[in-house]
Amino acid sequence: MSLESLYQEVILDHAENPHNYGEMDAPHLSYRLRNPTCGDDVTVHLVLDDEQRVAAIRFTGDGCSISQASASMMMDVVEGKHVDEVHAMIARFREMLVEGVEPDASLGDLEALQGVRKFPTRVRCATLSWHALEALLKEQAGA
Ligand code: ZN
Repeated sequence: MSLESLYQEVILDHAENPHNYGEMDAPHLSYRLRNPTCGDDVTVHLVLDDEQRVAAIRFTGDGCSISQASASMMMDVVEGKHVDEVHAMIARFREMLVEGVEPDASLGDLEALQGVRKFPTRVRCATLSWHALEALLKEQAGA
């Protein structure tokens, strides 16, 4: 199996069985973003604890495999992390997709999305949930 098809499999696996998918019961923050070019629609739901750590995170919405897989992978890496670390991850993910910076282990399965960089119109799909998370944190910090 080529590396490319292995990556493809990781992406499809997340898209078909997204992690932390669904509504959240507890009082939480949420932020919805849409990508009209592709039709992706993602809402990130988040609970922060008193120490500004991600106590719980989920997402809802629908869209292409890339947008769904990226959101699912994001759930895995940010859960339990401090807000400062989450911001650092958002920056690293963006660097990987926009500048082609080699990802480190902290990005987990997100490494599989590296190939998306070759398709500029799809970069928006991959970053949609991340933009939603960033906007949510910004809104929360300002509140
Ligand atoms: Zn898309």
